[in-house]
Amino acid sequence: MATVIDGKQTAAAVQSRVARDVAEFVAETGHTPGLVTILVGEDPASQVYVRSKGERTRELGMASFHEQLPATSSQDEVESAVVRWNADERVDGILVQLPLPGELDSKPVLELIEPTKDVDGFHPISVGRLVANQPGLRPCTPIGVMELLRTYDIPVTGAEAVVVGRSDIVGKPVALLLLHQSATVTIAHSRTRDLGEVTRRADILVAAVGRPQMITGDMIKPGAAVIDVGVNRTEAGLVGDVDYESASQVARAITPVPGGVGPMTIAMLLSNTLEAARLRH
Ligand code: NAP
Repeated sequence: MATVIDGKQTAAAVQSRVARDVAEFVAETGHTPGLVTILVGEDPASQVYVRSKGERTRELGMASFHEQLPATSSQDEVESAVVRWNADERVDGILVQLPLPGELDSKPVLELIEPTKDVDGFHPISVGRLVANQPGLRPCTPIGVMELLRTYDIPVTGAEAVVVGRSDIVGKPVALLLLHQSATVTIAHSRTRDLGEVTRRADILVAAVGRPQMITGDMIKPGAAVIDVGVNRTEAGLVGDVDYESASQVARAITPVPGGVGPMTIAMLLSNTLEAARLRH
């Protein structure tokens, strides 16, 4: 049976490290790192996310700000909010909760975020720095995946890594982070021929697809580490992209869903907020 890669425990360890580092940073600089969440509209799931991000930020000794905009806001109004927070010295990280409602276009909004405050790592400058392996803020879920591999001593250098999914927020950045740690990386997607043949090569398999339990045990190399980023709501509850039952018979280590990658995302957001404060002070 595979080792269970415990995201809750790892996220808790990251958070206590961040809390300790925040205290040190405040003592050294006199500045309290701050994160603002901007929520447009009243989507209940998004409200839960931003509320818990705010609570967690305060628990770690950082300042939390929130701007609530009505769903009827114009593109200009949302962009003006970002511009205001860019200029606010109390704030080191700006998070615009996605998706934006209605006809609002998130791309120009995200591009307005001052790159040193881009704690989600979605700004084109952050993306460029990631591609070039230059210091900068990295997207939270992908660095959460790397933190899990590090914590569980899964060797990356020289490993065959297969990432299933090529989105800008998960698949591509995870693939780049693995590459920068000298894995041999393959990115698979919906047009990949014989997916099983590709995934069976992987020492490290990252699934970021959004299709319930599509990666089955027979698609996994015995002894592989399997990181399941997928979150799918089904009648049977929350499941990942990996069929945990069959995969855990074959893998050496595997993340559960829930309790794997999920808790890491917010922990890495808090870590990025401190990182952003360091960049600016
Ligand atoms: P996305 O933008 O929908 O991308 C999905 C990717 O999967 C695409 O690249 C797509 O290929 C590929 N794909 C779709 N069907 C496939 C198939 N049959 N075979 C191989 N590849 C296939 O999704 P995302 O935003 O990356 O998210 C992926 C999953 O991670 C979702 O379940 C999401 O909820 C979850 N997620 C979790 C967290 C967390 O904190 N745990 C954070 C973000 C996302 P094409 O490019 O060819 O269409």
